[in-house]
Amino acid sequence: MPASAPPIIDTRRHQMFPTLEPAEIERVRRFGTTRSYGAGEALATVGEVGHGLTIISSGNVDITQHDQSGRRTLIVTHGPGAFMGELAQLAGRPALVDAHAQGPVEALIIPPDRLRALLISEAELGERIMRALILRRVGLLETGAGGPVIVGRSESGDMLRLENFLRRNGHPHQTLNSETDPEAKALIERFHVDPGQLPIVLCPTGQLLRNPGENELARCIGLVRPIDPNRVYDVPIVGAGPAGLAAAVYAGSEGLSALVLDCRAFGGQAGASARIENYLGFPTGISGIALMARAYNQAQKFGVEMAIPDEVTGLQMPVDSGSGYFVLNLSNNERACARSVVIASGVRYRRPAVENLEAFESSSVHYWASPLEVKLCAGQEVVLVGAGNSAGQAVVYLASQVAKVWLLVRGADLNANMSSYLVDRITGLANVEVLTRTQIIGLEGADGMLQAVRWRQGASGEEVRRSVRHLFLFIGADPNTDWLAGSGVALDPKGFVLTGAEAGDDRHLLETRCPGVFAIGDVRSGSVKRVAASVGEGAQVVAALHGFLAASGHERVIVATH
Ligand SMILES: Cc1cc2nc3c(=O)[nH]c(=O)nc-3n(C[C@H](O)[C@H](O)[C@H](O)COP(=O)(O)OP(=O)(O)OC[C@H]3O[C@@H](n4cnc5c(N)ncnc54)[C@H](O)[C@@H]3O)c2cc1C
Repeated sequence: MPASAPPIIDTRRHQMFPTLEPAEIERVRRFGTTRSYGAGEALATVGEVGHGLTIISSGNVDITQHDQSGRRTLIVTHGPGAFMGELAQLAGRPALVDAHAQGPVEALIIPPDRLRALLISEAELGERIMRALILRRVGLLETGAGGPVIVGRSESGDMLRLENFLRRNGHPHQTLNSETDPEAKALIERFHVDPGQLPIVLCPTGQLLRNPGENELARCIGLVRPIDPNRVYDVPIVGAGPAGLAAAVYAGSEGLSALVLDCRAFGGQAGASARIENYLGFPTGISGIALMARAYNQAQKFGVEMAIPDEVTGLQMPVDSGSGYFVLNLSNNERACARSVVIASGVRYRRPAVENLEAFESSSVHYWASPLEVKLCAGQEVVLVGAGNSAGQAVVYLASQVAKVWLLVRGADLNANMSSYLVDRITGLANVEVLTRTQIIGLEGADGMLQAVRWRQGASGEEVRRSVRHLFLFIGADPNTDWLAGSGVALDPKGFVLTGAEAGDDRHLLETRCPGVFAIGDVRSGSVKRVAASVGEGAQVVAALHGFLAASGHERVIVATH
């Protein structure tokens, strides 16, 4: 958001806080139950799982948020006809705001599963409610209220890691610089934190985490819950990139019970794209995270369960699992049982063979260019290595914020792998210098901070050293298929999943060698590595799932909603 943009609560207040007509409340009464509250009673508490969407029938409710120092501010007072809730209510996650009855209040409580049924059966009203839930989350993201507070050095790699994790998962949070902020210093003193334990995270429940992993943080703030090992899903989908989310939306909307697992965040590679300009229907382009957040919310609206971050480490076939079902094993020792499986685990960024790369990876070496990374290198010179479309987009984005981009290309020509619109744009940027036939040969720095990059350039092979603190790498990707080892799913020589005729006779186009296991998106051998192609395969695979489930006797009553 540009610094000058007014808060969303000022510009879209009427859409954030609509009032339902008495006739509308009567219509949706069948989805909930009535409850009364006394003066001062809490209807929702930050960090606690709420009851669901709450429509006020009589009385007034104050919705408040508090910052890290406990200062409480009023967001809105809901009167009769208004409703309380935001996106957390769709999935039954902990509340991000507090709500208290001003006096006696009567309210209609609609629990998460019934809320999803309401959104689907009441199209126009559902649209108004869904829009309000999304806008309220956007408002909370702007202020960071209700989420955890991260305290640490602003340049630390762990700080960047935790911020990135919460940002990519659309979760509000606040950050405090431990070196300059008096409140941060007070927190560090109060909790007796050694500098080596930074960053610390103060969760809304009051729990303090010392430099936590993403999984620990996600569990503390209620982003992810344990998977029921006794439940048999129609389809778990491994990967929440565009392919996985598309499969989730279509599976959920067509009545299949679906679980999406991702070891990092929703959105996959697309979530790291600063601007996607070639996705159908967005003539002015759209940021990858915005496109993917829409899909993520849409899938939840159709009742798809999300397990993010949860890493899948193995797949067992029904004959081997002992249960007669497919079993997915997770890194936290949980498991998920299913009648079929969709592999949508995409690809991971390739790393160049440079000796001490790892030493700088948390702070100075980046595999995507989001506003967080750009904030770190604003006004500086940066080096970017790569020659594909993702590299091109990153160069265009970075060039608008940094002093200079050195674009290092291994081949002789930028046109070989990059779309011509991006090549044209880069050619027109005065602060981008393209160096072809050029390769990185060394990194220099100390304490995890890069100080200089060395490369060999041009036909002459001249060696160059430049003082640069940030290096961006966009040099292609390898398939995320290690977790399929020993499963029986066949891979091509590069490790991509074989499907269709290449996997065996009578296989569906997207089916692997193992019947009932499908692969879609970038992870599939021979796939077109584009958002639109991944989304198309995600939609297509659901028809194949229906066919498999029916043929294997797992058929359920499927209601196609089209
Ligand atoms: C910076 C960038 C910009 C791009 N811009 C464009 C563009 O403008 N237009 C375009 O068409 N394409 C673009 N692309 C390509 C596009 O993003 C990909 O083709 C697309 O994201 C592939 O989708 P996918 O769902 O198949 O896989 P991915 O997006 O790779 O998603 C796979 C997901 O699976 C998860 N995962 C992997 N292994 C496991 C496991 N074991 N357990 C649990 N989860 C796992 C990962 O965390 C990831 O979230 C861009 C790519 C990048 C990197």
